[in-house]
Amino acid sequence: MLKVAKFGGSSVAGAEQFKKVKAIIEADPSRRIVVSSAAGKRDSSDHKLTDLLYLCHAHITYGVSCDDIIGTIRSRFAEIRDALGLQYDVEGDFDKLLPRLNRDMGVDELVSRGEYFTSRLLAEYLGYRFVDAADCVFFGLDGQIDREKTYAAIGNALKEHERILIPGFYGKLPTGKIKVMSRGGSDISGALAAAAVNADVYENWTDVSGILMADPRIVENPAPISTITYAELQELAFMGASVLHEDSISPVKEKGIALNIRNTNRPQDPGTMIVEEVEEDGEQERFITGIAGRRNFTVLTIKKRPMNTNEALRQALDILDRYHVAVEHITLGLDSFALVASTAALGDSVYDVIADMQKAIRPDDVNVKEGISLVATVGRKMTSRPGTSGRLFHALGKSGINIRTIAQGSDELSIIVGVENADFEKAIKVLYERFAG
Ligand code: ASP
Repeated sequence: MLKVAKFGGSSVAGAEQFKKVKAIIEADPSRRIVVSSAAGKRDSSDHKLTDLLYLCHAHITYGVSCDDIIGTIRSRFAEIRDALGLQYDVEGDFDKLLPRLNRDMGVDELVSRGEYFTSRLLAEYLGYRFVDAADCVFFGLDGQIDREKTYAAIGNALKEHERILIPGFYGKLPTGKIKVMSRGGSDISGALAAAAVNADVYENWTDVSGILMADPRIVENPAPISTITYAELQELAFMGASVLHEDSISPVKEKGIALNIRNTNRPQDPGTMIVEEVEEDGEQERFITGIAGRRNFTVLTIKKRPMNTNEALRQALDILDRYHVAVEHITLGLDSFALVASTAALGDSVYDVIADMQKAIRPDDVNVKEGISLVATVGRKMTSRPGTSGRLFHALGKSGINIRTIAQGSDELSIIVGVENADFEKAIKVLYERFAG
């Protein structure tokens, strides 16, 4: 058994968190690769080191002194070191960086130091070999991860050392420069490491006991999801549930590696297991997997009698394409169709879009309805069961929620309804109570 354990910012925020990480690592010797984020917030009033480093760069850009911020960052590291009795020369390494701040150090390298310093300390504390991401995570010239080269380098590092620790979030360009990933990118580094060594499990340690069935800001105490497929997760994430960095899925999914989301503060909780396929265990499992949604969509309805639907639809899609607007849903009637797109994506182009559609399609009527929310009920078991949509619509109808659009994902993983923005939260609550409560 071989596991990659990635620890997020809150899991390594301070010395107390480091101790929890150590206990987790020591509890299971198969956790041979650790990937670490930069120290995050210790409490709600605290700052993430990555944010402070970006702030520092902004100060430098505008010619404002960033000495205070640098001092804060440095003392966060020194505090962890001193509290845990470690040797790492934080000050010495910082002193080497400072003269380069205004010279050759790019923003990416500066920001990556959050992960670098945190990982140096954590590696020493755990007794793991520190392997710099600059030596094992590689980007191509196109800015994309060079997976082949990265997998080979991480694989070799694990052959040479029994236990390794790699800082997340950054890697090296062919030019030799450091490049960071987008925010939350340590998830990707962890996934790459897991794929590189064909790990049995990629553990993603964070501060929640897994993915919840609904947004806890809307539903009180939603149940955690014990098992979810990658496809369902993608559906939920697309509909607004933020869990993992989206680019962290494909490396592990491709290799059939299970991804386990765990809580560093409650290691006794099993968390959420994300897998390619679930062996159904009959009635014990919940009927639906989760509910998510997004606000602020616009529905454009086109009516024409008689309508050559293929042609009209193609023209409408061409027009939206010209304005770089992605269509989220299409519903078709006999002599009408409705297109749902994000209101923000349409922006002020909405008037040009309508004018162009009027010219091209010559409809009898065009209707624009803004302020629509999409709510997705996701579940691999859901759509194969007769009567699901009926129950769903009945639950919403009984609560006085008017459904403006309906779509069933073609992969039969979700049923998505469009409701008024004002009904967004209520719809999620009602559906949760009906199917999961
Ligand atoms: N430290 C980086 C961030 O805050 C990357 C990460 O934590 O995954 O976005």
